[in-house]
Amino acid sequence: MTRPRVAVSTCLLGEPVRFNGGHSRSRFLTGPLAPYVDWVPICPEVELGLGTPRETLRLETSPSGPRLMTRASRNDLTEAMSALAGERAATLDADGYVFKAKSPTCGIHGIPLYPPQGPPIDRRNRGLFAESIIRAHPLLAVEDEGRLNDALLREAFVERIFAHARLRELLDGDWRPRDLVAFHARHKMQILAHDPDLYRRAGRIVADAGTLARTELAAAYAQTFRQALSKRASLGRNVNVLQHCLGMLDLDPVRRDDLLTLVESYRVGLVPLSVPATLLRHHAHGQNAAYVREQSYLSPYPDALRLRHHLPPDPPIAASPVRHRADPSCSSPTSG
Ligand code: SF4
Repeated sequence: MTRPRVAVSTCLLGEPVRFNGGHSRSRFLTGPLAPYVDWVPICPEVELGLGTPRETLRLETSPSGPRLMTRASRNDLTEAMSALAGERAATLDADGYVFKAKSPTCGIHGIPLYPPQGPPIDRRNRGLFAESIIRAHPLLAVEDEGRLNDALLREAFVERIFAHARLRELLDGDWRPRDLVAFHARHKMQILAHDPDLYRRAGRIVADAGTLARTELAAAYAQTFRQALSKRASLGRNVNVLQHCLGMLDLDPVRRDDLLTLVESYRVGLVPLSVPATLLRHHAHGQNAAYVREQSYLSPYPDALRLRHHLPPDPPIAASPVRHRADPSCSSPTSG
């Protein structure tokens, strides 16, 4: 399987680069995820030559916007950090970025902004370096290690970095329009689960594959694909895709009803997505149904990461119209 290239705040990998000489090793990043990705560690404060250990920093108000200041010596690092971020953003070639939470340099949300004196006036800011990277790469998959503790956010992030990596691998190679058409065919259900409108737009782009210039085609498809993957794959859209895949299999009534029942159990929050998706994949393999079997939706990342095992949030109450095939034994005169 393709290996995503993931930029990461160096301290999350266990490197002792924090202001106090310590680290913030992330168990998920250095444990389950590590065998499947290639890290691109970045510690902006060390790259700036601030040394370890070093004085703490904070964001401060100014008429021209937030400034990155050393707390005690009152050095303004804004220009130097902005220049470094600009260089890094220009050369960044990654499928995702995991930032360190709560850092005035690397944090992606909730960073306090201080007036020169007194308590913070708001806590809705990004770290200065992270802000530049995200502004330059709005469709990059980004998270912080705190949010990756949430099962839904973790799954969404990992799905995106693997999808981005597959597309990067294709577009970095000597591809032809028909290769992009084949890529799109394998990713149709995955895109549909995220955004039906962008699914249709991506379909129109590949339909014109033979008429567009190669660079224009690649740019248009990559933009649409990444935009779609940035949207949340909702419960309803997952149900829709599962039913869609099921409809493409030639199953006998018993197996079809079993699968429909599991899809409904997923819809009402009784089982995780992995349950109907695994059975669907099993039937697709058994039938040699190549189109369904090869859908990235059914194998978006290595199974060993065990990311689809959480129950969906806020299950809807109303039942969907699932038709159950009558069990002949229940209507037989001998059944109890
Ligand atoms: S939060 Fe960012 S700047 Fe601070 S130690 Fe970690 S990587 Fe370096």
